[in-house]
Amino acid sequence: MSAHDDQRLRSVAIIGGGSAGWMAAAALANAVKHAKITVVESEEIGTVGVGEATIPPIKLFNARLGIDENEFVRQTQGSFKLGIEFVDWARKGNRYFHPFGPYGADFDAVPLHQYWLRERQRGDRTDIGEYSMAWVAGRAGKFDQPSRDPRLAKSTFDYAYHFDAGLYARYLRGYSESRGVTRLEGKIVDVMLRADGHIEGVRLADGREVHADFFVDCSGFRGLLIEGALKSGYEDWTHFLPCDRAVAVPCESAGVFTPYTRSTAREAGWQWRIPLQHRIGNGYVYCSRFISDQSATDTLLANLDGKPLADPRPLRFVTGRRRAFWNRNCVAIGLAAGFMEPLESTSLHLIQTGITRMLALFPDRRFDELAIREYNRLTALEYEGIRDFLVLHYHATVRDDSELWRACAAMVIPDSLQYKMEHFRSRGRLVSTSLELFQNPSWLAVFVGQLVEAQAYDPLVDQRTDVDASRYLSGLRRAIAETAAAMPTHREYIEAHCRALRAS
Ligand SMILES: Cc1cc2nc3c(=O)[nH]c(=O)nc-3n(C[C@H](O)[C@H](O)[C@H](O)COP(=O)(O)OP(=O)(O)OC[C@H]3O[C@@H](n4cnc5c(N)ncnc54)[C@H](O)[C@@H]3O)c2cc1C
Repeated sequence: MSAHDDQRLRSVAIIGGGSAGWMAAAALANAVKHAKITVVESEEIGTVGVGEATIPPIKLFNARLGIDENEFVRQTQGSFKLGIEFVDWARKGNRYFHPFGPYGADFDAVPLHQYWLRERQRGDRTDIGEYSMAWVAGRAGKFDQPSRDPRLAKSTFDYAYHFDAGLYARYLRGYSESRGVTRLEGKIVDVMLRADGHIEGVRLADGREVHADFFVDCSGFRGLLIEGALKSGYEDWTHFLPCDRAVAVPCESAGVFTPYTRSTAREAGWQWRIPLQHRIGNGYVYCSRFISDQSATDTLLANLDGKPLADPRPLRFVTGRRRAFWNRNCVAIGLAAGFMEPLESTSLHLIQTGITRMLALFPDRRFDELAIREYNRLTALEYEGIRDFLVLHYHATVRDDSELWRACAAMVIPDSLQYKMEHFRSRGRLVSTSLELFQNPSWLAVFVGQLVEAQAYDPLVDQRTDVDASRYLSGLRRAIAETAAAMPTHREYIEAHCRALRAS
C-alpha cells in the first residue's frame, strides 16, 4: 500500500471522560495500533456520577481488556450481583427476582417452565424462584463462582458486578493512558464542520483545537457532536417509559450485604439499592408529572438503610434514542446515544455493545455508508428490545394505588411487546430472538413476577407421558438448595478474594 492509498484512520478523538469515554478509550487502545487516540474531558462539567449496577456480559468486556477480576473488584469497591429483586412492582407486598441464568436446566425437549406451569395447574404452588440457582443463593446472601461442569446445579447461574462507576472510569483511564491514550482537560466551546458536513475538530475554551479523522461522542446527555453539531434527531420514548427524573444518594452500609440489586416500586417510580463494599448506592427514579422533586427526595431519604453520605443529587433525562447513532464521521456512545432508565442496568451494557459493534464495523477515512447503516440498524434493534422489556415491568401491574401505576397499566404498548405477551398468556411460550439482549429466562422471570398468567401450557407436555417431571423438579430443587447451602457468604467470598484496600 502506497502512502497515497493509505485510508487508515490517523486519529480518533473521544469527546467525554465518563464511563463511556474511558470504556471506549480502553477498548480502542487495545484494538487500534496505528491511530492516535485522544480523550477530551472537562472537570468543570463533570460526569453524570451514577451507574453502578451491571449485567453479566461486562465480564466479557473486562476479559477482552485482560483485566483481572479480583483486581478490578478491589479497585472499584465492587461487589457481586446475581440479579435484581423487584419489590412491590406487580402489587404491594409482592416480591420476585430476575436472576442471571436459567431456571434449572432443561431435562426434556419441552422447556422446564412448561412442566412447572402444568404442576401449577395441578395445584403445586412452588415458586419459580426455587428453580433458580442465582435466587436461592442470592436470598441466602451467598456467592461463589459458577461451576463449569454442566451436570451440576452450580453451573446454572451467572453473575455481574456492582461497582463505583467513578472508580471504574479512573481505573480504565490508567489502563488507557498506559497504552498511549492522551487525555486533554478542557471545556469544548465549539465544534467545527467541514464542507461535506463531517466533523473537522473541536475548539476548547482556551483556544486549543483538537482535530481528528473520527470522533466518538461520549459527551453525555447533551450529545455535543451527534446532536449539537450534526442534528441527528432524538426519538422520544416518554410515552412508553414516563419516568424523567432521578435523585441519587449514597448511604452507609447496613443490613445484609446482598449479592443483588433491589428495585422497590414507589408511588411515582421506583428506588434502587446497590450494595458496594464501602457504601450503598440509592436513588429514586420518578415521573415529574406525579411527584414533586422535594417529595421524591424526602421519600428517598426516608428509605435508606444507613446514614446518607452526601447531598442528594438530582438528575433529569428524556428516555429515548438518537435517530442516527452513527452519523458521518461521528459515533455516539453512552448517554449521548440515548437513555433508558436503569431498571435493568442496561446503560453500561449499551456502551459495551456500542464499542464492540463500532470495532466490528470499524471505518477507514472513506466512512463506508453501508457499515454506518448496519451499525444504526443493529443498535436501534437492541434499544427497542430493551425498551420493550422495561415497559413490561410498568405495564403488567395490578397496582392501582397511584396515578403513575394506573397510567402505566392503561398505556398503549409497542406491538412487539404485545406480541410477546400474547404468546405467554396463551401457552406460556417465550418468543425472544437470539438478537435480543434479554433472553427467554429473563422474560419468564418478569412475566411470572409481574403476575402475567399463562392460560395454558404447551400441548407437547401432555404428549410426554414417559417424562417423570415432578420427580425431576423436586430433585432439582434439592440440588439447588444443597448447593446454595455449601457456598460462602457474599462477604466471605469478597474477604477471601477481592476486599478493597482502602475505605473509599
Ligand atoms: C439516574 C441514573 C442511574 C443510572 N444507573 C445505572 C446503572 O445502575 N447501571 C448502568 O449501567 N448505567 C446506569 N446509568 C447510566 C450510566 O450512568 C451512564 O450510562 C454512564 O455513566 C455513561 O455516561 P457517559 O459517559 O455517557 O456520560 P457522562 O458521565 O455524563 O460523561 C460525559 C463526559 O463528557 C464531558 N463533556 C461534556 N460536555 C463537554 C464539553 N463541552 N467539553 C468537554 N467535555 C465535556 C464531561 O466532562 C464528561 O467527562 C444511570 C444513569 C442515570 C441517569
